[in-house]
Amino acid sequence: MKKKVVIVGAGMTGLTAANDLAAKGFEVVVLDKGRGVGGRLATRRLGASRADHGAQYIAAKTPAFQAFLTDLQKQGIVQTWQVNDRQHQRFVGTQGMSGIAKAMAANLTVQLQTKVQKIDENMVVTENGEQYAFDYLVLTMPVPQIRSLLADSAIALTEAEQQILDAIVYEPCWAVMGETPYSLALDGGLAPENSPVAWLVDNANKGITAQTTFTLHASAAFSKTYLEESPEKVQALLLEAAQPWLGNGPFTHLQIHRWRYSLAAQRAETPCLALENSPIWVGGDAFGVGNVEGAFLSGKALADALAT
Ligand SMILES: Cc1cc2nc3c(=O)[nH]c(=O)nc-3n(C[C@H](O)[C@H](O)[C@H](O)COP(=O)(O)OP(=O)(O)OC[C@H]3O[C@@H](n4cnc5c(N)ncnc54)[C@H](O)[C@@H]3O)c2cc1C
Repeated sequence: MKKKVVIVGAGMTGLTAANDLAAKGFEVVVLDKGRGVGGRLATRRLGASRADHGAQYIAAKTPAFQAFLTDLQKQGIVQTWQVNDRQHQRFVGTQGMSGIAKAMAANLTVQLQTKVQKIDENMVVTENGEQYAFDYLVLTMPVPQIRSLLADSAIALTEAEQQILDAIVYEPCWAVMGETPYSLALDGGLAPENSPVAWLVDNANKGITAQTTFTLHASAAFSKTYLEESPEKVQALLLEAAQPWLGNGPFTHLQIHRWRYSLAAQRAETPCLALENSPIWVGGDAFGVGNVEGAFLSGKALADALAT
């Protein structure tokens, strides 16, 4: 009988682990609370336009990730994208960053809008009361959410495991998106210094939409200060700060999103963690090198660790 693996999270980590584990002969189901796959590989519709509002581009340093991206490039799922004054090659999704996750999920069993609320022995229980039995459980959500789930489920951690999870820190990020009728002189992407604006890009320049559609990411310092502020106020402050580059509009289809967990600023050294006292493996971009590449490598490491 095939061993059953439940993976919580359909982001880069969870989807990588799921594909590898399915190829190794496990029966895999992926659960995600979102309406679509991708997690922080996120793309929004704004009227007829599209904007990436999570990860902006991907860089690959390891041969394994380079090979993965080359394969996706051959399938037309990613393309290279060059920010003018940067040296390294970057990749973006041809249909937006979420398109990468959609392609990765194509042959998997993924249950969306399924929020895991509790782990009860060898069963996960969702907020709607559904139960999924597992032989092995893989958790790939941002670590504060993993910690809450483990605590709510009264899963005992060793002192060392507790210390590893407690030391992980994420930065928050407010993101604003909108269309404007004018072209913007953003040189591909702008990363202003000493500004509430940390990143500004025209998604048309990335080739994922026709009309000028900007994504603005606030700095970690600004996002921390205004984390609990109303979205309307934050949006107004950020558009004012971006006025030198965006002008005064008119803007259409404005949207704002609060990422409580964006980049994992302080990470665990190892690419994943096997809990000593339960059949639970923990991974994500907070384990190893970080970013989308770190999530991919963590997913690979989870599958390898679980299979051995
Ligand atoms: C604003 C921003 C900008 C970024 N820029 C870049 C960049 O330019 N380049 C780069 O490489 N990286 C960037 N990143 C980081 C990158 O997006 C992440 O490192 C990577 O996508 C993390 O993947 P993951 O699978 O580990 O986690 P996630 O993508 O967060 O996936 C976790 C999934 O778990 C789900 N989930 C959570 N709780 C539950 C639950 N209880 N039940 C069910 N499902 C649940 C979530 O819905 C989510 O889909 C950025 C991130 C943000 C937010």
